[in-house]
Amino acid sequence: MGQGGAPGNPLLAQLVDKHVDSEGKRSYLCIACGTLKKGNAAFDHVFGHATKCEVLEKTARELWIEARQASGQSSIRVQLERIEDVANKNLESGTLKQNGTDW
Ligand SMILES: [Zn+2]
Repeated sequence: MGQGGAPGNPLLAQLVDKHVDSEGKRSYLCIACGTLKKGNAAFDHVFGHATKCEVLEKTARELWIEARQASGQSSIRVQLERIEDVANKNLESGTLKQNGTDW
């Protein structure tokens, strides 16, 4: 705790078992099916697997539903940010066009 990086996600911690080997290389296991993944247990990666993990769905359905909800919230936030981005760009180009025709 408090060693930098993203703050721990309590749900994420329930979905994977994190490991760091003697060389400091990170990996994590799906707690349900035991799939080993190399690298940091990033939110997108862990939830990307958990929401599709059939073993998790069968053995820990409540956790699986929570994971689906959590990843859904995350992608909605990303979509909203993209929409804002596009809206800002349209606003800018719209202003430019208006100036062009008015003058
Ligand atoms: Zn799994």
